[in-house]
Amino acid sequence: MLKIGITGGIGSGKTTVCRVFEVLGIPVFYADTVAKQIMVQDQILISGIKDTFGEESYSSEGLLNNKHIAGIVFNDTLALEKLNALVHPAVFRAFDQWVAQVPASSPYILKEAALLFESGSYQMCDYSILVTAPLAVRKERVMLRDQVTEEQVQARIDKQFTDEKKLELADFTLENNESTSIIMQVLDLHLQFINRKN
Ligand code: ATP
Repeated sequence: MLKIGITGGIGSGKTTVCRVFEVLGIPVFYADTVAKQIMVQDQILISGIKDTFGEESYSSEGLLNNKHIAGIVFNDTLALEKLNALVHPAVFRAFDQWVAQVPASSPYILKEAALLFESGSYQMCDYSILVTAPLAVRKERVMLRDQVTEEQVQARIDKQFTDEKKLELADFTLENNESTSIIMQVLDLHLQFINRKN
């Protein structure tokens, strides 16, 4: 099964682009959504988080104490690295399980991850796609979508690799800049992946 990683900076539109692939019948694994789910489901991960960040990381009902964790990792790079070192392997496990149940008739699958390159998970994919958009457009989209300030968006951007760095690692790019048709670009890539599989 051909595995394609897809990423892009915050607000680039990677999730929107993945929805187009889904319309074409391509299964998509949303790593960031799965990461949130397994934080309260994967017992190995839960134990690791409690050991590292304290029992108060979870409520007595087993809910994640986001405020507690965010308070620790927000301005502490080492703590954030520790959290990622726990979460990323758990997401890789979940991805392997998900791949195993994808219909064999699927020509390829996509793994959407905000930190595809930062986490190293692109190395487990056959190819990678980078979704790009101008920084100003990305900021506007996220401010509108999440009702946050420009400074808050910038703080999130600062935690990710720059597009320049990601471009060096990506095999393909999709420009989601509102002037080039994203659907035509997706169709073009879709056909390329189908041909590579055959
Ligand atoms: P994040 O990293 O925060 O998850 P993302 O890269 O997945 O972001 P999306 O959520 O897909 O980005 O898109 C961000 C916002 O921009 C959404 O509200 C989406 O509807 C909008 N958007 C994405 N692409 C376009 C486009 N081509 N034209 C107009 N709006 C768009």
